[in-house]
Amino acid sequence: MQVPLLDLKAQYAGIRAEVLETAAQIFESQHFILGPHVQALETSIAQYCGTAHAVGVSSGSDALLIALMAAGIGNGDLVLTTAYTFFATAGAVARVGATPVFVDIDPDTFNISAAELGDTLARIPAARRDKVRAVIPVHLYGQCADMDPILEISRQHGLTVIEDAAQAIGAEYKGRRAGSMGDFGCFSFFPSKNLGAFGDGGMVTTQSPAADDKLRILRVHGSRPKYFHSVIGGNFRLDALQAAIVQIKLKYLDRWTAARQQNARTYRDYFKAAGLDTVIRLPVERESRHIYNQFVIRVPQKRDDLRQFLKAAGVGSEVYYPVPMHRQACFMQKGRQPQVLPEAEKAARETLALPIYPELSDAQQAYVVEQIRAFFT
Ligand SMILES: *Cc1c(COP(=O)(O)O)cnc(C)c1O
Repeated sequence: MQVPLLDLKAQYAGIRAEVLETAAQIFESQHFILGPHVQALETSIAQYCGTAHAVGVSSGSDALLIALMAAGIGNGDLVLTTAYTFFATAGAVARVGATPVFVDIDPDTFNISAAELGDTLARIPAARRDKVRAVIPVHLYGQCADMDPILEISRQHGLTVIEDAAQAIGAEYKGRRAGSMGDFGCFSFFPSKNLGAFGDGGMVTTQSPAADDKLRILRVHGSRPKYFHSVIGGNFRLDALQAAIVQIKLKYLDRWTAARQQNARTYRDYFKAAGLDTVIRLPVERESRHIYNQFVIRVPQKRDDLRQFLKAAGVGSEVYYPVPMHRQACFMQKGRQPQVLPEAEKAARETLALPIYPELSDAQQAYVVEQIRAFFT
């Protein structure tokens, strides 16, 4: 049996006619950049996320970049973020000229640890502490970071909070949606995300009208009116075709999320029945609405061998992520001992993402668990 990590063709089969019709309309209009489809999606996403504003941008990476720019973060500034994330989170900080300061994670959720965040801040010498401008919590795998203490620490130190919600559209923390709690929420429509475009795309959410205005100016090279630039922005525009396709998919998102959550429950049942819940560790569901962009187990022994074994059996899996940010060559300082962040390093050795996409069948899930049982016995 073949069980790919993700099967986008299965999803496309259900929306094909709608997508083709909308694409044909946009081709006829020959209006490709920004415009009414982007505006309509901005309204829908703001509503979905419980924010006052949303600004369509070119990718999730650019969402992070433009949010940092709108917050006025640049040369010499320090930005706290998790050591365990996709590279874009930390890369955006470096690209505006600031320095990422990496914080260890909570071993249960793989999200930034609020306790470590406080400790990391406290360890920064007082003379440099006013250089700390922002914190970027990442809602990894579709579950929100522990936002209350993060927001409290940020308020005490006057930090801007930029939520990296690229993997977490619709996830909730104590009834509040991802992207609605901080100053900015950054989303990605990369095809493998729960709400994926047919190409690149992203969105920035905010509750602040002033921030919304800044984002809109920065998105078009900092111009307002056209050809008059009082600030320097970039080309961070979202295109009409991507916006229209994401708008179609948004109608189905809650159904797809429910299917992912059901698949997570099925895995838990099957792993328990197979007696594997002691050999591997199942994901800890701390928040009420985990949207399962990824179903990530911990494999303390022979993770890489298991991955090879699954591959040979036709089961796709992935390691998100094999190298934590503080161990990336580009962030290591020459001649300096690398930072030690034990939980992020342990996660890098143990995590394994299994197929969890909505169209996955019961038989496929049973097969995945059966193969893992076969490996360990
Ligand atoms: C996907 C992702 C991004 C970047 O999104 P792109 O649209 O691919 O640029 C940023 N942060 C996290 C945590 C992601 O998973």
